[in-house]
Amino acid sequence: MTTTRDVFRVFFAHLKPYRLMYGFILTLITASQVVSIIAPLFYKKFFDLLASGGVNAETAASLRGFLLVIVGIHLIQWLFKSTSDLLSVNLTPKVMAGLEQSAFASLNGHSYTFFTNNFVGSLTRRIKRLSDAFDTINDAINWTFLPTSVLIIGSIIVLSQRSPIIAVGLLTWVFLYLLASVGFSVWKIKYDEPRSAADSAASAAIADALTNNTTIKLFSGSDHELNIFRATIERWRVAIVKSWRLGAGNEAIQWLLMIILEISVLLAAVRFWQQGLLTIGDFALLQSYLISVFMHVWDMGRTIRRCYEATANAKEMVEIMHTPHEIRDRRGAKEIKVKKGVITFRNVFFRYGKARLVLDGFNLTVKSKEKVALVGPSGAGKSTVVKLILRFHDIQKGKIIIDNQDIKKITQDSLRDAIAMVPQDPVLFHRSLMDNIRYGRREATDKEVISAATKAHCHEFISQLPDGYNTFVGERGIKLSGGERQRVAIARAILKDAPILILDEATSSLDSASEQLIQSALSELMKNKTTIVIAHRLSTILKMDRIVVVSGGKVVDQGTHSNLTKKVGIYKTLWEIQAGGFIQSLHYPVD
Ligand code: ATP
Repeated sequence: MTTTRDVFRVFFAHLKPYRLMYGFILTLITASQVVSIIAPLFYKKFFDLLASGGVNAETAASLRGFLLVIVGIHLIQWLFKSTSDLLSVNLTPKVMAGLEQSAFASLNGHSYTFFTNNFVGSLTRRIKRLSDAFDTINDAINWTFLPTSVLIIGSIIVLSQRSPIIAVGLLTWVFLYLLASVGFSVWKIKYDEPRSAADSAASAAIADALTNNTTIKLFSGSDHELNIFRATIERWRVAIVKSWRLGAGNEAIQWLLMIILEISVLLAAVRFWQQGLLTIGDFALLQSYLISVFMHVWDMGRTIRRCYEATANAKEMVEIMHTPHEIRDRRGAKEIKVKKGVITFRNVFFRYGKARLVLDGFNLTVKSKEKVALVGPSGAGKSTVVKLILRFHDIQKGKIIIDNQDIKKITQDSLRDAIAMVPQDPVLFHRSLMDNIRYGRREATDKEVISAATKAHCHEFISQLPDGYNTFVGERGIKLSGGERQRVAIARAILKDAPILILDEATSSLDSASEQLIQSALSELMKNKTTIVIAHRLSTILKMDRIVVVSGGKVVDQGTHSNLTKKVGIYKTLWEIQAGGFIQSLHYPVD
């Protein structure tokens, strides 16, 4: 359970590198506030003289003298305040940027499972909310909590010289007021947290609907989606109304308390004036402090509530930052060394969460530079096998070994550097084609990128685009066709030139020209590499050294295409269903 203290720890950790500057800013703010407390003392003198000095040139000169001092005081205060503002304007965004970077890094380190369980839209919002919460709390400290504390202490000290009773009364009132504000804010957290969760749910719902926009169009689902969203946003509205209504009620009561206090203090002051204990100047002093203290304390009540709300918002992100990454490198994990590229699954058991076993004692060895096709019914676990080689999930039992090295004992980065993967439906960055292909080897020159693109038969379509390699591909690469995106992914893999290649073939059929281009690109890619293909195409299958049939979480058969089609078994059945000769769209039960 993430606490407010956890949130502050994260803030302090990011503020620490700038502690000297931050300390300087706080000193300037304190100094500016101390100076502001001195001004009313001269106002008192001014009014006392006005009341008793008589109307003559000498009094007027003295009055002007006081005004000059007051102007001087305000100028000093202005200087301190403006300098602290200027410095703070530089410092705060630095800390906010640091927080966003940490949140970004922490999110990126989370596992594949984490991203399948969380909505991207809501995660994006959480990062923003964390830095916004710092901004709110930092503002509160700099411009409310610190100045108000200095003001209260200073005013009480000055007032106690004039009337200890009024000073003690004011102090007691401020103390009770703030105690009530904090108590109220703490109590209100239970309404703030559901508000924050409802807010995230609304963002997630928007992101989900936008991602599925094509599906919505295809199924004329706009009204249906609007109804679903209306229900989500209604939950948010109810939560926020509850939270705000409580805040407004609280403010109304506080305002009333302020009016009562002001009248009480002034009534007491009148009595002391009757007794000759206070002068007209004291009234000016008192009223000036009272107004200042009221305004600050009033603001402080609101700010305390805003800080609690900001903390509730930040907690969602801090919780993720404090959740250990599910897949971690062992301490002292070494880099993998892949020379031959032999991959072994030794008695592997794996399930997603608490679901049924997907791999149930899975054994397989892929020899050096061997080309293996995984085939089997839909849901048999072919993609899972591939994800496990990449260590997107940790297995529950058994071992996955590459060139005699258990993949659990080596660093994830080095493992993934040794493998090139061409996914079924590649997703691209909204960056230029040049940058997208270069992702395979980020230090590659333009020439190397173009050479890889040529081998992957991307160059043909890229050179026809008006902006060529500088073309931006749209979010997730939406501006390219499926076949083009796959060729870009192949170009990336060619550039990466890793010793192990994993290929998840697209199930959708391509026209024969695209098919030929992709096959030719793949032949180039597979040269001299240990290759595992989740195969759906005859043209690919015929090129493989071995076909491995996966079913029920195990390898149930293996051999070449001609061997397997000769005997009765899953492969022959699958094959016969595919009259067109493509093993694709096989959607029938695993067992
Ligand atoms: P297809 O040929 O249809 O792509 P596949 O053989 O590649 O299927 P997998 O994707 O490996 O099958 O899935 C194996 C089983 O694991 C399926 O029952 C699937 O529902 C389940 N599964 C896959 N991914 C997850 C996940 N992230 N969380 C929970 N279950 C999952």
